[in-house]
Amino acid sequence: MKNKSSRLSGFHRLSMRTRQKEIAQFAKDASIAPLLDGGLSDELCDRFVENAIGRFALPLGVATNFLINGQEYVVPMAVEEPSVIAAASNAARMVRASGGFIATLPRSNTVAQIELRNATQSLLTLKGEIPEIIRMANDTQPQLVQLGGGVVDVVLRENVGGPARHVVHLVVNCLDAMGANMVNTMAEAVAPFLAMRCGATPGLKILSNLADQRLVRAECRVAFLHLKRNGFGGEDVAKGVAAASAFAEADPWRAATHNKGIFNGIDPVLVATGNDWRAVEAGGHAFAVQEGQYKPLATWHIEDTHLIGKLEMPMAVGIVGGASKAHPAAAKCLEIMGIESAAELAVVVASAGLASNLAALSALSTEGIQAGHMRLHSRRV
Ligand code: NAD
Repeated sequence: MKNKSSRLSGFHRLSMRTRQKEIAQFAKDASIAPLLDGGLSDELCDRFVENAIGRFALPLGVATNFLINGQEYVVPMAVEEPSVIAAASNAARMVRASGGFIATLPRSNTVAQIELRNATQSLLTLKGEIPEIIRMANDTQPQLVQLGGGVVDVVLRENVGGPARHVVHLVVNCLDAMGANMVNTMAEAVAPFLAMRCGATPGLKILSNLADQRLVRAECRVAFLHLKRNGFGGEDVAKGVAAASAFAEADPWRAATHNKGIFNGIDPVLVATGNDWRAVEAGGHAFAVQEGQYKPLATWHIEDTHLIGKLEMPMAVGIVGGASKAHPAAAKCLEIMGIESAAELAVVVASAGLASNLAALSALSTEGIQAGHMRLHSRRV
């Protein structure tokens, strides 16, 4: 299906029924039934959350035109805000005309933290125990290990915030899972052993959402000629976007709104694929401020006759575990995109984020955000 063009010209003018038929062709069995009614039975609601009393619907649309690493994607987005999907589709159209997005997720490592309080011995006493620590942690996840994942490193951090706290990191390759439950189980399994060995009281045992070993990178190079819009020349648009990026790099007040525009593209795809958007938000914001000042997650600059956009941020997503396979609508959204790995989903999500950022900055730098946004918003009110 990734050979089937996602350049669905005039898609927004079709009736919803006709759109459904078109998108069903991207599904393996040409059926998108779970997307028509939300996909959650009473029984599933009861299994997903406690005290379930019903379901809360969001509109689901698809962003068109995405060309990522040479593959075609229509990108499902569940979101309540008008203009998000139109903006992402529009920016993806400009980017595809210049060759599309290039994106990678080199590693799928999640970190579990084990806090050790008031240790009587140095953490260095654990150095010789690392193979045993890895064995104990891996023993809790035989399926993950069999598939090629598991603990890849153990990091010993002494005196975190003072001498009364040491922290051990288990770095776990989670393959196609987001991994929170798996690594939490691992952390709880090894904590008593670590505490015993260094004469400490075990403290917290849980993953870190600052997934800095799971960084996705997405990039696009858009020729000036593909950027022209509503009477504004492409070079002027590019200069405006680069200047807006510089503003966000200099000023955290602006960077927060810049990043909100990126999450406009990211969160709806996470919701549509059953992923934990709170985890990705927490990771993104923690990463954005790591150097001491809150920074933009994507930046833009000009090279010759092109506008270059680059995004880098933690992207802990899964296509197994969590709600991704258990929620019939999420499973169908993954199928429509033809997603085969968590890394592939991560690059699609990141590209949607970069597209949304380009759409927002190019509008802000030209006619302003309200012209397009309010036209679409007024249909709702
Ligand atoms: P999970 O508990 O369902 O574990 C994934 C399962 O999939 C494992 O049993 C694993 O063996 C199996 N698996 C099969 N094929 C696999 C493959 N190819 N790659 C990897 N695993 C494979 O899910 P999880 O990913 O460990 O946890 C995700 C859930 O944890 C989400 O629902 C999230 O909301 C929740 N959570 C998040 C936090 C947090 O972010 N702070 C904390 C706790 C829980």
